[in-house]
Amino acid sequence: MKNITLGMTGITVPQNGFGALPIQRVSLEEAVRILRKAYDGGMRFFDTARAYSDSEEKLGAAFGDGYVKREDIIITTKTPAKTPEDFWKDLDTSLTKLKTDYIDVYQFHLMGQCWVPGEENGMYECMQKAKEQGMIRHIGGTAHKIGIARQIAECGFYETLQYPISYLADEQEIELVHLCNEKNVGLICMKGLAGGLITNAKAAMAFVGQFDGAVPIWGIQRESELDEWLAFMEEAPVMDEEIQAFIRKEQEELKGEFCRGCGYCMPCTMDIQINNCNRMSLMLRRAPSEVWLSDHWRKEMEKIETCIECGACLPKCPYGLDIPTLLKKNLADYRTW
Ligand code: SF4
Ligand code: SF4
Repeated sequence: MKNITLGMTGITVPQNGFGALPIQRVSLEEAVRILRKAYDGGMRFFDTARAYSDSEEKLGAAFGDGYVKREDIIITTKTPAKTPEDFWKDLDTSLTKLKTDYIDVYQFHLMGQCWVPGEENGMYECMQKAKEQGMIRHIGGTAHKIGIARQIAECGFYETLQYPISYLADEQEIELVHLCNEKNVGLICMKGLAGGLITNAKAAMAFVGQFDGAVPIWGIQRESELDEWLAFMEEAPVMDEEIQAFIRKEQEELKGEFCRGCGYCMPCTMDIQINNCNRMSLMLRRAPSEVWLSDHWRKEMEKIETCIECGACLPKCPYGLDIPTLLKKNLADYRTW
C-alpha cells in the first residue's frame, strides 16, 4: 500500500482510510476492537463526524487512552454548525469525545454553500481562530453537490475536500479530482462503494489508487469488511486491463441517474423509506434478493403508492433526482419480481 500526501496539509498516510460512520451501529466494545485492529493492520486515517451519534466517542475509547501515540494517527471530524455559537460548542464536544486536544482536519459538514473569510456569519473565521489556538490543524469542507465541491476546491481557503468518489464517478467528478490535485487540495473520498451498489473491493481500491493526493475512507462496520481492506495493505490492487473492463461494464449497467441511498432526502412526509425503495431495482439485481423480497420490504415498497408528491424531499437530494418519479419506476419493476 502506497502512502499519499493529502495536498497542502502535508499529512502523509497509507491510501486506505477508515470511515467511522457505520461503527455507530455496533457496541462500544466491538467498535473499539475493530478500530484497534484497523490501526494494528496499518490504517492511520480515521474520519468521523459530530453528526454520527457516538462514533467520536468510540474513536476516543479506542485511541484516547494511550493505545496509540496521538501523533501516530490522523483524526478528522466534522461540524454541521451554521452559527459561531454552535461551532464552538461542537468543537469542544468533539475534542472531549475524541479524548484529544486537537483535530487534524476539521471540516464543515455537508456544506450548502462555500464559506469564505469576510462573510457576515463569520463561520470561516471560527475555523481560522480554532487553527490559531491549536485546536485544529487543518481546515476542510465536505459536500455532495458538485458545484459547491468545485468552489471549495477552487477558492483557496480549504486544505481538504471530502466528496463521494467511486468508480461510478462521472466526467465532472473526475475533473474535480484533477482540480484538487492542481490546487493542492487534499481529497478525502467518501462513498467509494456507492452506498452498497459496488461490491468489488479490489476494483474500488484500484480506482482510487490511481489518484495521488486522495485518501479513500471505507465505511466499516464489520470485522469481515475491515479484513477485506486490510488485506490490501500488503499489496494494493493496481488498475489493469481486466479491472478497467470490469469497471466499464459496471458503468454501463449503472449509468444515468440513480439513488445513492444517502438518506439526505428523508424523512418523507408519508414515511416512505426513500433511501432503500428508490434503488430497489438496482439492489435486487446486484445484491442477494431474498432480503428485499420479504413481506417487510413488500409493504415498504407499496407505501410508494401513498406519495402525495408534496415535493418536500426534492430540494434535499444532492443529486437532483426526481424522487417521486424514480420511486414509481422502482415500484413498477418491483411488482414484476
Ligand atoms: S414527494 Fe413523495 S416521496 Fe417526497 S417527501 Fe413527499 S410524499 Fe415523500
Ligand atoms: S433520493 Fe437522493 S437524497 Fe434520497 S437517498 Fe437517494 S440519492 Fe440520497
